[in-house]
Amino acid sequence: MTDATTGGPLFDTVVIIGVGLIGSSLALNIRENGLARRVVGVSRSAENRAKILELGLADSVTDDAAEAVVGADCVLLCTAVGAYASLAEQIGPHLSAGCIVSDVGSTKSSVIADIQPHMPEGVHFVPAHPIAGTEQSGPAAGFASLYKDRWVILTPLPGGAREPVERIAALWRACGAMIDKMDALHHDRVLAMTSHLPHLIAYTIVDTATQLEDDLKSEVIKFSASGFRDFTRIAGSDPTMWRDVFLNNREVVLDLLQRFQEDLVNMQRAIRRGDGDFLFDRFTETRDIRSSIVEARQAGQFIPTEGE
Ligand code: NAP
Repeated sequence: MTDATTGGPLFDTVVIIGVGLIGSSLALNIRENGLARRVVGVSRSAENRAKILELGLADSVTDDAAEAVVGADCVLLCTAVGAYASLAEQIGPHLSAGCIVSDVGSTKSSVIADIQPHMPEGVHFVPAHPIAGTEQSGPAAGFASLYKDRWVILTPLPGGAREPVERIAALWRACGAMIDKMDALHHDRVLAMTSHLPHLIAYTIVDTATQLEDDLKSEVIKFSASGFRDFTRIAGSDPTMWRDVFLNNREVVLDLLQRFQEDLVNMQRAIRRGDGDFLFDRFTETRDIRSSIVEARQAGQFIPTEGE
């Protein structure tokens, strides 16, 4: 896809800072679809930089984010969200007027607070979050179809220019994604429920299993297909990314966790009292939610890997 107004690529130079699962999947789309004339990758590790070039994810790579953004018209921050404030501070003075900075972070209020203060006059920041992913990480984990038919949520800054938001929306649409827009706090509340809390529960269940006595633990692994295996997929996600998510959506997650604990106690009480009707009604409601998600083409046969 090209820029409808000019017939050319959407951007001249796109810099991807953090070429992991999300960044490399974007890079593959940008290069395969000619969405930019040039892609520059930023990675701290020499091994990853070699991998990025070997996989053809970028035209050039560097470990210097400030140097990379000079003259770029689009910069995409794709590291774990805990690195955003420091990266924004490093690149801020080197960004050209008119440049669009965007991100892919799983939290949005914290990301705006971390990045926006470092954006100079004339640079447009468009916060974004693709609701797509897997438990894999690193530059070799990416694949071009990751964003196909998945949502990307944009949380534009109040009073910001419209055109940069539309350009970032066009970039994601060219990757096969669908766009929705909302304010940052609303995003953080929705994602706390759909993603952050489920990950916390999965991490906790798998952690409970790791504390079991050795003979029981080996049976848990052997017979893991009965539910536990699905939790281990989620709990196999990148520890840095998820540490940063919980530290950066703290209040919203704690509030939701309180409600979850109350609901769990209700389930516990029903089991103790032998209240089968209560359990049956709750499990019927949850089954309906699963059917709605499959109907919305966000699970089931449409999604080979369900990510964050
Ligand atoms: P990832 O595979 O671990 O990739 C992140 C990359 O960032 C790493 O390969 C790392 O490479 C690089 N990096 C880390 N710190 C850096 C720094 N200070 N400077 C430059 N590069 C740095 O992670 P991911 O899954 O792509 O997630 C990236 C972002 O996407 C996160 O903010 C996450 O919240 C968001 N997200 C993730 C998912 C998902 O399911 N995974 C879904 C939606 C959104 P080097 O070590 O080589 O620098």
